[in-house]
Parts: sequence; C-alpha cells; structure tokens
Amino acid sequence: MHHLLNTMQAIVIHKIGAFSSEEVPLPMPAQQEVRVRVAVTGVCRTDLKIIEQGHRDLVLPRIPGEEVVGTVESVGPLTDPVWLGKRVYLYPGTACGECPSCRMGADNLCRSMQIMGFHRDGGFASHVVAPVKSLLTLPDNLSFEEAVFAEPLSCCLNALERAELKAGETLAVWGAGPAGTLLARAARHWGAEVTVIEPDSLRRRRAGGMEALAGTERFNVTIPAVGSPEAYQQALAVLAPRGRLVAFSGLHSSEAPHILNVNTLHYHEQRVTGAYGCAFRHGEEAIALIASGAIQVKDLISHRLPLTELTEALNLVRTKAGMKVLLTP
Ligand SMILES: [Zn+2]
Repeated sequence: MHHLLNTMQAIVIHKIGAFSSEEVPLPMPAQQEVRVRVAVTGVCRTDLKIIEQGHRDLVLPRIPGEEVVGTVESVGPLTDPVWLGKRVYLYPGTACGECPSCRMGADNLCRSMQIMGFHRDGGFASHVVAPVKSLLTLPDNLSFEEAVFAEPLSCCLNALERAELKAGETLAVWGAGPAGTLLARAARHWGAEVTVIEPDSLRRRRAGGMEALAGTERFNVTIPAVGSPEAYQQALAVLAPRGRLVAFSGLHSSEAPHILNVNTLHYHEQRVTGAYGCAFRHGEEAIALIASGAIQVKDLISHRLPLTELTEALNLVRTKAGMKVLLTP
C-alpha cells in the first residue's frame, strides 16, 4: 500500500452500519495539541455499537477508536516540545475543567465533553491528534500492549468508585468478557469478595466464575457487564439491603425501561447508580495498577490484528470468540 507524505491510513465511519479503510489527510496538531503515532488500539463492544447502531455522542464522519497508546511525533504551535518522543496513553475525553461536573471530579460528565472516537477523530488510524492535557506518560517498563488496557480498566475503576465498594464487601459481576474480568480483578485487588456469572464455559473457567446464581445469594454491589435486561433483573433481585447496582452496560433503548421497581429500592434502601466512561485521574490509577503488576492484563489479549482487518476484529467481539482484540496500524 503506498503512503503519501501528507496522508495516513484510517478507518472512517461515514454512515451508521458501514466503515471504510481509506487514505486521509495527516492531521495537524493545533496549539496545546500533539500528533501521536499510534502503537496499539483496543477494540471493545462500544466500537461495535457505534459502527452498527450509532451512539448518543457520535458525530459523523468519524475515525473511531478510544483505547489508544503511542508515541508523540510532533507538537503544535506554542506547545511544549518536551512531549516529543514520549510514549503516552491518551485519556479519550477533553473536558472544560470549569463546569459543575468537572469541578466535582467527574470530567467524564462534562457538559462540553469531547470524546476521542466520538466527537473528534480516534485511534483507528496510523496517527491521531490529541490535546496535551489528555496525555499520560507511560512508565518505561510498561509495554504498549499492556498500557492500552488503561482505558477499559479506568472505566471499571470509575464503576467501582460509583458503587462505593469497600474491602470485605461482596460483588457480583455479570459477564466475563474483558470488561467483566477487569472489574473482577480490580475489585479483588480492593479486597472485595467477587462472584462472576458467565454462561460461556471457557470465559467462566478463566474468570473462576459460575454459570448461574442459586438466587438466594445477596450482594453488596451488583454490576452487569453485559448489555442484557435479564442480567439487570437478576442484579436487582440479588441485591442485599443497602446494596448498590451499577448501570455499567447500556441496554438497547427498547429494553432499558421497565427494569426498576421503585418499591424494592424503597423497602431495602437500595441504590442504583450509573457509570459512564472514566475521569482523567482513573487513567493515572489504571496505569499505576497495571505497571506495578497489581492487575494483570496480558493474558486477556486473544488477538493481534492489523487495522485493515477491523471487520474480523469486530466479528470476534460480536461473537465473543476472543477476549481482548488489539489492532496495530
Ligand atoms: Zn466541564
């Protein structure tokens, strides 16, 4: 494949339901921005969802990809050249830093949030432009393949924070895919007692999970990490008094209503909280947890594919035939 000097290879979504691999102009960093040569991007169910069904935050046409690590290749005007050559993780959000959400530390809920791969171009390309304030330097001992897990792990840390999970408490997680497994590992690291419910035998064995609950168990925290209304119904049914359910996985809009019974919450003083994405600080925590070995991620990599094989990568995610699928430009 030829590669002109001022162009790059990228995956572009022009309309919902389709994408193409094309040569597009090489993006130029503006003030306080850098251009990153992409080393690895992770594929997750969100990518499948935005390509096939669209997403609340998606603006077209768009280069998707929100799990990105790479090397800073050039800096924009009036931007500190110290970033040149740095190996970085890109926090996918750009928050205003001033609105009420930002001021309470929930930059992921910023009223003018710009998400890489949604509002601005993402990492399913050889290069991506990002603001300096979204960069986190990677420790030398951390490989790109491990560092790319910082994004999904950050979302899990946010969910556990929203749940106010404490050491010694019990947590049930539905689904032992990459997200469910990272949730379970992070919660065990925090000292929680974790039960994973997973119908697939291979995934279940890897996560040390169980096929189904007896129904008599009660958990302090329940988190569906699968977009299934049944998982949500179970997660509510087995919630202990003062338990917390975290709405971590979205449901199809036709399935989302009719799940909650307000009287159940009333009688048992239970809470339901949402968790969407992650804040910048979760990226710092996630990188530290992975770099120190406190949370293992390498065994979750099932496939490494070139960017041009995105169709195959999405199939692996759709059919759950793999675990974490990584793409390289
Ligand atoms: Zn804000």
